[in-house]
This record gives sequence, C-alpha cells and structure tokens, in this order.
Amino acid sequence: MSTKSITMALAGNPNAGKTTLFNNLTGARQHVGNYPGITVDHKEGHFKHDGHRVSITDLPGTYSLTAYSVEEIVTRDFLTSQKPDVVINIVDASNIERNLYLTTQFLEMGVPMIIALNMMDVAKDRGLEIRTEKLSELLGIPVVPIIARSGKGTDELITQAIGVATSSRVWEPRDISYGEDLDETLMDITATIEEVSFLSSDYPSRYAAIKYLEHDDEMLRKGQAANPELASKLEQSVTEISDHLQKTMEVYPEAIIADHRYGFIKGILRQGVLTHKFDTDRLYTSDKIDKVLTNRLLGPVIMLLILFGLYQFTFTWSELPVAWMASLFGWLGGVVETNLADGMFKSMIISGVIDGVGGVLGFVPLIMFMFFGIAVLEDSGYLARVAFMMDRVFHLFGLHGSSVMPFIVSGGIAGGCAVPGVMATRTLRSPKERMATLLTVPFMNCGAKVPVLVLLIGAFFADHKALYMFLFTMLAWFVALVAAKFLRMTVLRGEATPFVMELPPYRFPTLRGLFIHTWERTWQYIKKAGTVILGISILLWALMTFPGLPQSELDQFEERRVQLQTTLTEKPGQLQAALLVVEQEESGATLKNSIAGKVGSFFEPVSSYAGFDWRTNIAMLGGFAAKEVIISTLGTVYSMGEVDAENSGSLGDRLVNDPSWNAVVAVSALVFIMFYAPCFVTVVCIAKESSWKWAFFSMTFNTFFAFLASVAVFQIGGLF
Ligand code: GDP
Ligand code: MG
Repeated sequence: MSTKSITMALAGNPNAGKTTLFNNLTGARQHVGNYPGITVDHKEGHFKHDGHRVSITDLPGTYSLTAYSVEEIVTRDFLTSQKPDVVINIVDASNIERNLYLTTQFLEMGVPMIIALNMMDVAKDRGLEIRTEKLSELLGIPVVPIIARSGKGTDELITQAIGVATSSRVWEPRDISYGEDLDETLMDITATIEEVSFLSSDYPSRYAAIKYLEHDDEMLRKGQAANPELASKLEQSVTEISDHLQKTMEVYPEAIIADHRYGFIKGILRQGVLTHKFDTDRLYTSDKIDKVLTNRLLGPVIMLLILFGLYQFTFTWSELPVAWMASLFGWLGGVVETNLADGMFKSMIISGVIDGVGGVLGFVPLIMFMFFGIAVLEDSGYLARVAFMMDRVFHLFGLHGSSVMPFIVSGGIAGGCAVPGVMATRTLRSPKERMATLLTVPFMNCGAKVPVLVLLIGAFFADHKALYMFLFTMLAWFVALVAAKFLRMTVLRGEATPFVMELPPYRFPTLRGLFIHTWERTWQYIKKAGTVILGISILLWALMTFPGLPQSELDQFEERRVQLQTTLTEKPGQLQAALLVVEQEESGATLKNSIAGKVGSFFEPVSSYAGFDWRTNIAMLGGFAAKEVIISTLGTVYSMGEVDAENSGSLGDRLVNDPSWNAVVAVSALVFIMFYAPCFVTVVCIAKESSWKWAFFSMTFNTFFAFLASVAVFQIGGLF
C-alpha cells in the first residue's frame, strides 16, 4: 500500500471519450460535450484503486500538440510542467488512424503512457477488428481495449496504468523518421540544442527541434526567452530549410512531418493490427443519416426546421413554469411590501433585489428548456453538422469553417456566452479571419440577451413568440455575417484559408449526460443572477435613488398631501387615488433627479431618434455591465413609479401599458440590445485576446451600428 497519490492525465482527440471515462472513474459531474473550446481548462478528480490513491486530470481534447490552439498549449504545458506519473491516451478505436496521430507526438515526447482503446463497440459495429497485443508490441506501450460508456475494461485499464506509474521503466522518446532531408536537419538542430542544454530541461531535444521545424510559436517564444542569440540562429536555419523545401518540393516542413507521422501509423496498422471484416465502403449508419441531414438542399431546410422546433418546444414547455416563477416573485414582493416599514431599505429590497434579481431568475425554467434542447443537438452530434453546413456560407462572408463553433458557443442558436466564444476563436490560425470572428461573435444572442428578447417578444408579440425568436436569431446571424464581410473588405482585408471538417458519428445522447449538461449551464446562469447581477442591481438602484429630491421639492409634495388630506377627508376612495398619484409623481421626480436619471436624460435628445426615453437609456447603460441587467433595470425603472406591488402587474404588462412603449419601440430596442457594445466582461476578453484598440473598436463600432439600425427601425416603423 502506498500513501503517495499517483497522478494520471487523460489525453486524446476531442470526442474520444475522455470526459466519459473521467466521470466514470471519479463519479464527478462534468460536461460531456461535442464542441471544441468549451472544456478549455482541465478538470481534476480523485479515486481509489487497489489501495492506491489516484488523482486524475481531464485534459482538453486535441488532434495534435502544436501550439495552434489553446487546447494544444494547455495539454502540452500540463505534461511538461506537471509531469504526471502516467498519461492515459484515449484512442477512438472506430477512428484509429486519425487518433493515433496524437499518440505519435506523445511517443516523441517520451511521456510514460498507456493507450485506452475506447469505443470498441463502435469499432465492432463498423466491422473493424483490432489486435491490441500486436498494437501494444509495435508501439512499445500497454494497450487496453475499453468501452468507456459502459465501463467495460476500465478496471483493467487503471490496474495497468498504475503498473506503468509505479514501474521503474525509463521512458525514452521514440524517434520517428521524417525522411532523409529533415532527419539530417533535425540532427543538426538537436545537436545545437543539446550543446548548451538549451530548452532541453522541459522537452527532449529532438522534440524541441521538431517543434522548431513546425514553426511552433510557443516553442519559438520559449527559445527566445531562454537564449535569444541561439534561438535566432536556429530560426534562421529553419527558415533556410523551409525555403529550400519550398523551392525543391513545394511543401513546408510541417506537411512532411505530418505525412511521415501518418506513414508511421499506417505502417503499424498494416502489420496485421487492423482488419476490416466487411466491405469498407459500406455506408455506416451515420453516413446514411448524413446523406439526408447534410444534403445540399434538404440539409439547410431541416436545420431551420429543427431550430424553429427548438424554440417552439422551449416556449410551449416553459410557459407554465415561467408564470409560476412570476407569481412566486410577485408573492415575495407582496410579503415584503406588507411586512417591512416604508423607507430606503424596503425600496432597495423591492426595487433593487426582488424586481432586479427576480426578473432574471424568472427566466430560469425557459433557459433550462432551451439548454436541454441544445444539449440534445450537441450530444447527438447534430451541432457538428450545423457547423459543417454553415461552413460553406461562412466562406462567402470571409470567415472560416472554424468560425462556426465560436458563433454557436456565443449563442448562435440562443443562450451561449460571448466570452468562451471569443476564446474559442483561438482555434483559427489566420489572424485576420480570427479578428473578424472575434469582433462579430458578440452579435449572437447570448444567454443574457435571451431573457430580454423573451420579455419584449412576450410582451409585444405574444401570439408568435417562437416565430419572432427564430427571426431575431436569423437577424443576429445575418448582421454578424454582413459585419464580418464588411470588416474583411476593409480593415481586415486578406486571403481566405482552406478548411477540412471532421464529422463525428451520430450518437444517442444519454439521459444522464443531457441532465448534467443542462443543469451545469442553468446553474451558471442562476449563480450569475445571485452574485454579479445582484451587486449591479443594487448599485443601479442606488444610482437611481440618490441624491434624492431637494428639500424644497420634498416639501412641495408633502404640502400637496396635507392639502389633499384636508380637502378630501370625507371621500376616502378619492383621497387614496389622489395620494397614489402624488406618490408616483414623487418617485418619478426622484428617479429623474437621480444620477442615473440625469445620465439617461442627457442622452434622451439623441436616443429619442430610436424611440428610447430616458428610462430606457438607464437600462441600456446598465446593460453594458451585463446584458441581464437590462431586465432588472427596466424592472426597477418601471416599478419606481408605482410602489404598489399588487397593481403593477408583470414587467411585460407595465411596458405594454406605458405610453412611451409600443411594438415599434420594442423592435427598435431589441435591435439595439442585440447589437450594441458587448458586455464589459466580453470587452475585457476581446482586449486580452487582441488589444485594447480592438476592444475599443468593438464597443464604438457596435454601438454606432446598433444605434443607426434602431433609428432606421423606429423611423421607418413610425411611418406605418
Ligand atoms: P471527450 O470529448 O473526449 O471528453 O468525449 P466525451 O466523453 O464527451 O464523449 C463523446 C461522446 O462519445 C459522448 O456522447 C459519449 O457518450 C460517447 N462515448 C464515450 N465512450 C463511448 C464508448 O465506449 N462507446 C460509445 N458507443 N460511445 C461512447
Ligand atoms: Mg471532454
């Protein structure tokens, strides 16, 4: 029995089953998803096996270990800095050739490794027969067949992994030959690196040399930091070789390296490791489904129908629970109303907390149904098809196939977040395509905008909720694409890069996966409402309350009250109504005189071209902090006039009844909300991913554009 805990890392291609195995082993709840960019951080868990304590990390999925994407950098850095006792390399047996590509790079790094040959069930269904002992022998590492989904073989896997971790075997990097030309150069570079032990503390020197040949940015940077002089010399000689290869063979070293890695794999598989039991060009079920679902003509139609169906499902199923939530918060407001003494504190609880946070939490059921629907699309593999089909369209607009996922992650279907969306653009290798994607993903309808959309659509277009939701989603895509095209024709002009997309096979989503997935996202939304939104909501309430009215005006209101009380003592009904009017006027005046009110009024002369009064302006300013805040602020602004919780009705009703709102204003506001400056967090994220210059550009460009669009809507809409 050892007391020291063994460290393991799970690494493999996206969708190879890492997370499934991880959850299986640790019992941890974790997202089981299908798109890149969502599990950028690694997750850690613990379990016991045969008296050994094991701590295991789920690394992000990668196809390679070159510093092209954040996943690859995270994985590589983890392996070199944490040095896990053993790496469990998950290989999708049904797609073995492609998956072993990453394996070759682990071999070259010389990390202690074991292969978990996953999806043996799928491989069998496809008529693939894999001789694992032979594979193990040729690779020189243990190979254990498993079915992660059912847990079959995982016990044996862990036993063997512990064996590797505790053995005294010395792991040498494995050399793969890259052909005469490159091998010779590699030897030179390796020698230079070894001479002064430059870079070789973290990486085997040949591995570092290969990375140099691959123009690996991260490695180049490390080299520059370690020894600028030597690094420049190496870069120089690599450039010479590249130029030479370019001239003689019209290829880059990267391409030769990739070819030889595949050659190495093919060589192994051909030695009796892989046999096809039946005709390989038989159509697999997935391919058959794809014949229809990604058909050139039928595919997009089906995609739009599915999208529309998603909204129909969401709105129909969430109608009742949303109404329950509304009455729950209405009831809560009533309780506070009757039990707290009038004053600042009560006003803060009702206007700041209940109307603010309640407005956001009220949409939890809807968000949940929406996320559930999206989880089904995602886990079944359909979302990857959406990306595949959109790829063609994207090229027309100067974007790249890899831009599709950032768009979807940001809320392309509804309910994502631009922050991971912006980060997911790291998978784009062309800087201009990346910038164009990064600047346009905030146009999508993120999870924070959805409730605002739902509120306004529900209030003004109650009869066609799903249809309007669908139309506004289409509008978001349209605007984002046109904006991208505009950027690509002006500030980001440049060539398009080609793209090949992998389609993972369709799978039946598991109920457990769907629930975990739905719950995690919903929980994030709830957490945000309870923390960030609560804080901003209270802050805005303060801005909308202070400095309060000057004493002279307060006295005037008081005087009117006294006067009413003396003149209307006989008629209590009329007195109450008249007092209420005074009360409303007073809080209206307070709001107008508040800091927020002043700012809102300041913008009113301009914003009125788009149909926004000073109160709406306050909400839009609040929305810059976080888009959910638009709802909570509207809730507060439109409740401050009426302290009476009972006859105020829902926020939607209040807007419909307010003279400054109508359907045209609603559309104008929706357009503005969808397209104006990204929220504060996204702006910071854009700055981090590019520069403050671009972050600033995104704020001003978007707001300017959104405002023009809203003015157009309001002015043209006003004609009818
Ligand atoms: P990751 O991207 O590597 O974390 O992969 P996931 O764990 O998210 O798995 C991707 C999909 O493959 C999920 O839908 C899993 O349910 C499914 N899956 C994982 N292991 C197996 C397996 O052994 N057999 C089958 N049929 N499906 C599996
Ligand atoms: Mg995963």
